[in-house]
Amino acid sequence: MKRTDRWLPPYDLLLARHGPQHWWPGETPFEVMVGAVLTQNTAWSNVEKAIANLNRADALDCRAILSLADAELAELIRPAGYFNVKARRLKALCRFLAERGVAAAPEALAGQGTLAELRRDLLAVHGIGEETADSILLYALGLASFVVDAYTRRAFGRLGLLQGGEGYGDIQRLFEGHVPREVALYNEYHALIVRLGKEHCRPKPRCADCPLNTLCPHAS
Ligand code: SF4
Repeated sequence: MKRTDRWLPPYDLLLARHGPQHWWPGETPFEVMVGAVLTQNTAWSNVEKAIANLNRADALDCRAILSLADAELAELIRPAGYFNVKARRLKALCRFLAERGVAAAPEALAGQGTLAELRRDLLAVHGIGEETADSILLYALGLASFVVDAYTRRAFGRLGLLQGGEGYGDIQRLFEGHVPREVALYNEYHALIVRLGKEHCRPKPRCADCPLNTLCPHAS
């Protein structure tokens, strides 16, 4: 892959400014999976409170979650919002892991098929959409599936690399076609894009201090 590709300079500039982001914030692959479900439509600080509750209740474990009543689980994850919905989603994920025989060691799922097969199987689990599936594949299972989110759409639209209107799969294919398929690179790139979206490429962009303003046609 030539370093002149337009999809790589943003990574180099973001990394030069911010350094490694040490994602995903989670102690174990299962905690990463739980975080990927709980972070849907909420800030990470709320997820941390829900995970702390699960930890205190000794329930940050697939089998422990399956043994809880739905209402008990919902109460523990209440800080993450949409707690009844997310309790059902967590239970569905845990049932899936148990059915695959990896409840005790969910990271073993990585050895149970190709990336495409595992992605298909995760997407078939209740409440797991593309962003959540890719977050699990990349950050919990260490497989090179690029994660796309709203920050990615906004920033890369402004950078002129997206036309607008592309679907999740279109954007993922663009990244995966232009950025070498390396787990560490995909891990860091997505984390840096999230940081870009939070600090600079916000709804009202802060271009003056943005690390990408030298290459961005939208810079103001
Ligand atoms: S220069 Fe402005 S519009 Fe371009 S990526 Fe940075 S914050 Fe977003």
